Amino acid sequence: METLTIALSKGRILKETLPLLEKAGIQLLENPDTSRKLILDTSDPAVKLVIIRASDVPTYVQYGAADIGIAGKDVLMEHGGDGLYEPLDLNIANCRLMVAGRTEADSGQRRLRVATKYVNVTRDYFAAGGSQVEIIKLYGSMELAPLVGLADIIVDLVDTGNTLKANGLEPMEKIADISSRLIVNKASMKMKHAKVQGFIDTLTTIVNPA
Ligand code: AMP
Repeated sequence: METLTIALSKGRILKETLPLLEKAGIQLLENPDTSRKLILDTSDPAVKLVIIRASDVPTYVQYGAADIGIAGKDVLMEHGGDGLYEPLDLNIANCRLMVAGRTEADSGQRRLRVATKYVNVTRDYFAAGGSQVEIIKLYGSMELAPLVGLADIIVDLVDTGNTLKANGLEPMEKIADISSRLIVNKASMKMKHAKVQGFIDTLTTIVNPA
């Protein structure tokens, strides 16, 4: 039996993907919130989900460990598109990638320090604007960095803006609108064409009904 392995992360993406999969006739056989399994079986014996860190999803798909993945555009921008097709915008987990900080942010003579987990995107964004910044790589809670003097500004995802506001920060510049995308391993697209294309077509009609 030809199988389809789909990689995705827990949290917002899994929560918003499950209803789409259900409409495609694919249900999880166990509760991902309580299960510790990393490979989840579905009602379709040919479809399995692997639950991994969001930033690892493009890597699994690029190397063919998963045929298909669901990843935020932020993660894809940071990872780069090698070995991947990106055939469908799922229009879920929508938010914006933004520069944010305190309005009075002033680094004086030294380079502006930017805290982010999006090192590549941030470097390219400020370079394109002609500014040289010092990038401080963090793995989470970027909003804390300006409050404790670790950085002047941050680059992070913003949805409602409540997290920024609660920490006395303001949105400054939008880098990109973000949503989750379906990504496909290039070899799977050839070797399992009917199955992969069938899945893309089904999700396309669910996400963009005529
Ligand atoms: P909010 O307070 O609604 O603006 O949400 C901001 C916080 O949620 C930040 O810590 C973001 O990193 C995180 N966040 C916002 N949108 C997303 C998303 N689509 N996917 C993952 N994390 C997000």
